[in-house]
Amino acid sequence: MRMTVLASGSKGNSTVIASATTRVLVDAGLSCRELMKRMAQVNEDPSALDAILITHEHTDHVAGLAVLARRLRIPVYFSEPTHRAWVRQMTPRTTMTYAQWLDHVQKEKEARAALDAVETCDPEKCEQFGGVQIAAAIADEDEEDAPEATAKRDLASLPAVEYFQPGTSFCIGDLIIAPFTTPHDAADPCGFVFESATESIRMAIATDLGYMPPNVRSALQRIDVLLLESNHDLEMLKDGPYPWAVKQRVLSRVGHLSNDATAEFLARDYDGNAAYIVLGHLSETNNVPELALLSAEEAIRERGKLLGNRVLLAQQSEPLASIFL
Ligand SMILES: [Zn+2]
Ligand SMILES: [Zn+2]
Repeated sequence: MRMTVLASGSKGNSTVIASATTRVLVDAGLSCRELMKRMAQVNEDPSALDAILITHEHTDHVAGLAVLARRLRIPVYFSEPTHRAWVRQMTPRTTMTYAQWLDHVQKEKEARAALDAVETCDPEKCEQFGGVQIAAAIADEDEEDAPEATAKRDLASLPAVEYFQPGTSFCIGDLIIAPFTTPHDAADPCGFVFESATESIRMAIATDLGYMPPNVRSALQRIDVLLLESNHDLEMLKDGPYPWAVKQRVLSRVGHLSNDATAEFLARDYDGNAAYIVLGHLSETNNVPELALLSAEEAIRERGKLLGNRVLLAQQSEPLASIFL
C-alpha cells in the first residue's frame, strides 16, 4: 500500500491512498490545477484514481472538489449530511427544505443518467434527454479556463455521489474503508482507516479533531501509517494574531489538536504500531514544524520500544514523497 500526502495544513488538504488495484483521493482542498500539478510531481497518475472521499465540507478539504471530480469523472464519497452541507455551500443563496433536498438529489441522478446516455452514444436516449444541451454541458474539460461557462451550470454537480455512514465500513475495489466520527465543527466530520483486503496493512487519516475521544483512539489502533493532526502550539496560539473568537474555536472540543494533545495521545493511548507517523494539518500561523516534530518525538522517546516509529512532517506547500509499505 501507499500513502502520498499532496498537501496538509489550514490552507488545503489532500492525500492519495493506494492499494494494489485501487486508488482514492482523500479530500481535494487545493484547486484542481494545483492538485494535478502535485500529483505529477510525485508520479501519482490522476487518471488512475477510482474515487474521491471527503472528510468534511470545510474549504481546506473541498476547494477543488467539483472541478476535479468532473474532470476525472469519478464518484465522490460523502456522508449524506456532509454532501448536503457542501451543496448548500456551493449554492449559498439556496435555502432548502428536506423535501427540496430530496428533489435536488433525484434531479442530480437524472442528470447523471442523461450524461451516461450521451457518453454511451445511444441516439434514442440522447434525444430523450436533449442530447445537444447535455453534450455541451459535458464539454467542460477546461472549465477552470472558462469561468463564464461554469457559471451557467450547477456548481455542485458531480459525476456520481455515493454515501457512507461514519461507523460503518465500506469497500472500494480491494480497499476496506472504515470511516470514524471526529469531534469538529462541521456537519458530519470523519476520519478514515484504510485496509487492503490482500495485504493486511492499515493506514489512517485523523485530522481536524477538537480532542481525542475514545472512538478515535480505538480507531487508531493497529495502524501502520498514521497521518495525525498536530495543529498548533498552545503558547503561539494564545499569543498569536488570531481574534479571540477564532482562538476559542481552535482550542475548543470541536476545533483542532494541539502539539501537546497529539503528544499526550502518542505517550499514553497510542499502541506504537505505526512504522510511520505523519504529522499534518499544521497551522502556518500558530505552529513551527520543528516544535511539532520535537513534541511528537519526545512523546515517543519516553516509550523506548517505539523507537522504530518514524515521524515525518506533511507539508502545506509541497507534496511529501510517497510512503510505501
Ligand atoms: Zn475543518
Ligand atoms: Zn481542515
